[in-house]
Amino acid sequence: MRQRITVLGSTGSIGKNTLDVVARHPERFEVFALSAATQVELLLAQCAQFQPRYAVMASAVHARELAEKIKSNGLPTQVIQAHDALETIASHPEVDSVMAAIVGAAGLAPCLAAARAGKRLLLANKEALVVGGEVFLQAVRSGGATLLPIDSEHSAIFQSLPEDPATWAGRVDKIILTASGGPFRSRPPASLRDVTPEDACAHPNWVMGRKISVDSATMMNKVLEVIEARYLFGLAPAQLDVVIHPQSTIHSMVQYRDMSVVAQMGTPDMRVPIAYGLSWPERVASGAAALDFHALSAMTFESIDDHGHPERFPGLRLAWESLAAAPGTTVVLNAANEVAVQAFLERRIRFDQIHALNLETLSAVPSSNPDSLDALLDLDAKARSSAEQHAMRMSA
Ligand code: NDP
Repeated sequence: MRQRITVLGSTGSIGKNTLDVVARHPERFEVFALSAATQVELLLAQCAQFQPRYAVMASAVHARELAEKIKSNGLPTQVIQAHDALETIASHPEVDSVMAAIVGAAGLAPCLAAARAGKRLLLANKEALVVGGEVFLQAVRSGGATLLPIDSEHSAIFQSLPEDPATWAGRVDKIILTASGGPFRSRPPASLRDVTPEDACAHPNWVMGRKISVDSATMMNKVLEVIEARYLFGLAPAQLDVVIHPQSTIHSMVQYRDMSVVAQMGTPDMRVPIAYGLSWPERVASGAAALDFHALSAMTFESIDDHGHPERFPGLRLAWESLAAAPGTTVVLNAANEVAVQAFLERRIRFDQIHALNLETLSAVPSSNPDSLDALLDLDAKARSSAEQHAMRMSA
């Protein structure tokens, strides 16, 4: 029986890579539903190729446009237009697996729906877990869902851990997340105020969406990943370490109590963790090139402290600080950062103001302990509104 898959965010970088892996294994995988925000033509082409039962667009205008094109092309796909359309395709009884590849907190509600419906949930959308936290994990537990990490670092950790999660706490000393250091690892911190969106989106090793590319340049991506690791692997924040590894060959490591270190390596190609999530616990061809050890010139490691941190990456400490604060703090931090990155990409604030905007929002929005989706979304909205005001003041 083929695995039926919903791909949330199919027109993005992770979504396209997912469909690339799926297309390599038509005997194993079948696309059930696809979703996008604005890219009508690309979603139409994906519908023509994969013939999903359903397609969803984020706005009614785009949904109408897609529905007309699907009809005039004689395709069988039905476009669902409803406020909870993403939740519908994430939790549909005929779906086996959901690839969560929407960017930002917008992916939280469909992720929760998939978790509550007991799906195999392939989580690329780290912001959903950073915002959802314990509420998300509770939905996974009560729904009986299987949560599989897609972020390359978390997939690496998952592949380096024993199969039985009950053994992790007793055996693991710490988790070491690797970070490439992004495009500005060696740039003088004082020059960061002149960085343009084009500079920030030019990652040295990975080809990714614009939001995560900017997060990699500020290292906020690593902040989100540390928080994500905390929830995924259930270790204490002090057991989460970050080291700079510019070549991105080792994707992360687990250090055990006996000081043995298990690492996962490969070429920097997201199809590897995607194929692992899709086929777990088996392995299928991903389309990625092999790592050529005969041609590897070096694998180097540097402390984050050697890189002008905190001047170059001032936000990094927020990972541990926000985990130590009230649970709602990671919701506020994520919302502030989404607003800050968007404002930077729209050239309303400077690159070096992203961190300042995050700090101002954290101090302006009171900490809380949101315990439901509504409470999480309410806090997210308050933080966004506060961050937008700070952004307006900064750009004035
Ligand atoms: P992209 O920006 O490339 O794609 C995002 C996808 O989400 C697109 O399909 C987009 O539609 C859709 N989308 C955007 N906003 C909304 C919204 N408000 N409602 C519904 N759909 C929306 O992002 P990436 O693929 O780079 O990243 C996706 C997630 O995966 C992020 O959380 C990121 O952190 C994570 N991730 C990404 C990695 C990578 O290599 N790219 C690596 C590890 C994790 P449209 O195209 O129509 O705008």
